[in-house]
Amino acid sequence: MATTLVALLTASAAWAQDVKIEPANWWVGMKNPDVQLMLHATDIANFEPSIDEKGIEITNVTRTDNPNYLFVTLSIGKKANAGDKTIALKSGDKTINVKYPLLNRRKDSAKRIGFSSDDAFFLLMPDRFANADPNNDSTTGTTEKANRNEPYGRHGGDLKGVIEHLDYIKNLGMTTLWMTPVMTNDMPQSSYHGYAITNFYEIDPRFGSLDDFKNLTAELHKRGMKHVMDMVFNHCGTGYWWMKDLPAKDWLNKWYDKDGNEIFVRSNYRLSIINDPHASQADLDLALKGWFDSTMADMNLTNPLVRNYLIQSSIWWVEMADLDGIRQDTYPYSDVKAMAEWCDRLKSEYPFFNIVGECWISEAAKLAPWQKGFGKANGIEDSGLPTIMDFPLQEAMIRAFGEGEGWGDGANRLYDSFANDLVYPDPMNILIFGENHDTGRLLTKLQDDEDALRMAMALLATARGIPQLYYGTEALMKGNGNDGHANIRGDFPGGWANDTINYFTQMPAAPKAMYDYIARLFNFRQKSMAIRRGSMTQYTTEGNVYTFFRYDATTRQQVMTILNLAKEDREISLERYNQIPNAHLVGTDITTGNAVDANGKITVKARTAMVINMK
Ligand code: CA
Repeated sequence: MATTLVALLTASAAWAQDVKIEPANWWVGMKNPDVQLMLHATDIANFEPSIDEKGIEITNVTRTDNPNYLFVTLSIGKKANAGDKTIALKSGDKTINVKYPLLNRRKDSAKRIGFSSDDAFFLLMPDRFANADPNNDSTTGTTEKANRNEPYGRHGGDLKGVIEHLDYIKNLGMTTLWMTPVMTNDMPQSSYHGYAITNFYEIDPRFGSLDDFKNLTAELHKRGMKHVMDMVFNHCGTGYWWMKDLPAKDWLNKWYDKDGNEIFVRSNYRLSIINDPHASQADLDLALKGWFDSTMADMNLTNPLVRNYLIQSSIWWVEMADLDGIRQDTYPYSDVKAMAEWCDRLKSEYPFFNIVGECWISEAAKLAPWQKGFGKANGIEDSGLPTIMDFPLQEAMIRAFGEGEGWGDGANRLYDSFANDLVYPDPMNILIFGENHDTGRLLTKLQDDEDALRMAMALLATARGIPQLYYGTEALMKGNGNDGHANIRGDFPGGWANDTINYFTQMPAAPKAMYDYIARLFNFRQKSMAIRRGSMTQYTTEGNVYTFFRYDATTRQQVMTILNLAKEDREISLERYNQIPNAHLVGTDITTGNAVDANGKITVKARTAMVINMK
């Protein structure tokens, strides 16, 4: 639009309404009084902002190389009250007023308690779980229309669908919901997964409204559950409104050919480079500044305006939607200093909050530097990230359950995986899982072996850390990730009105048995301080049997987990466990509900787990 400033000034009232401000509101009483407003309108940089409101000052005004943007920092002091505030924009003898709303915070907003090892995560893809509102499947104003026959298309699932089935998730013993991103992905195709965000401040209308999202938190809290929001700072969808008018030349990491033409350069996705003492700068640049995909623009978080924009967006969601945690996508792909600053800013506003970051690294030595407290690794700053994901354990599990015993094979992989805890700053703050939306379905990876799946569930339910399940594990959903992501992101049976079978209400016998098995374990987990907070003592494997204990000194609760990976029944002599208090091991096997009366020995059936709640 080539509207001139003069023309705008003559129509100033209308223009004031065209000033886009992000964030669209802020709050009084935040610990950090400053909020950086991004104002967008034609030639707005020609204006000088001022404010005459009690307790509020403008402490910084930044102009970039794009005259259509003005970055204004408001400092909201203790004397400021909630309400609509007026920011005056002055150019020559013209003054335009824009409104800016300040809200009151929820009571004790800063004291919110984040997720921890007390919790169990249920991960779902909202497009693929349940469609409660077919009217929003192809919302006007969004490019991609629903098509359930297209594996990579939008299938219509939504927030109301999730809300309707929260009891299904709660009854499974889950305490925390993590959905793949729900912010708008207005992209031409394949945007159902949510990782190509085109508006950091909006719920995708195909999932519902901001009120639906807030209602989801309220419904979770009503059930004593927590809400973790998935966010992406590394990249945004190329359909973002600002892509046509970038706020600054260095807003994104861009690549050019030798003639100076902009080109698409893909990341090498090699995360081991970042802390590698032998890495080349070229590889490092590619890892950090290469684009995740041609449809996903790489954000330049070394620009403080970008960094602040993203950090504030996350705080905005915590306040607005009353969140209990954040899951951050592709954590190592962004500037580590910027990410550490983000974690610090959240920690400062919410001292008891928690964040889990996706650091897809399969070796403990290379994963550990991404957890807060590790300190500098190869000259790179501490990452600040409180919770990491146990990709090494995930790989060990998948291999272990299909193998016979060997020096480093079978059950030994599980033992060795936990032995690696020596490198992690905080092993209890690690998300443990068998599958997620990017990996093959666990049951498929385990060669459709339901016995192996049950053992995997017993391990996840009782080992150290924060367990995470993926929707459909409990329903025996299968899928090979190597054949494409659509295979591992199937529609949940019964989530759509015309489904031939409804697993929510009439689950067939085999998946029902798995659902009940998992529910027994994870509902027990919630009551067991030994599992939620206790120490872990493991024993080297014998005959492909792996055993560990969890013990909580405060409650003196104790749990023994035995996984018999062998194809034969095994008799375990309890003498070995004399160091464990009360190792007479009388208790109840949670997997069956049967009393275990040891008499010095326990027989563990082939390919089963026992989880013994010891007296
Ligand atoms: Ca829908």
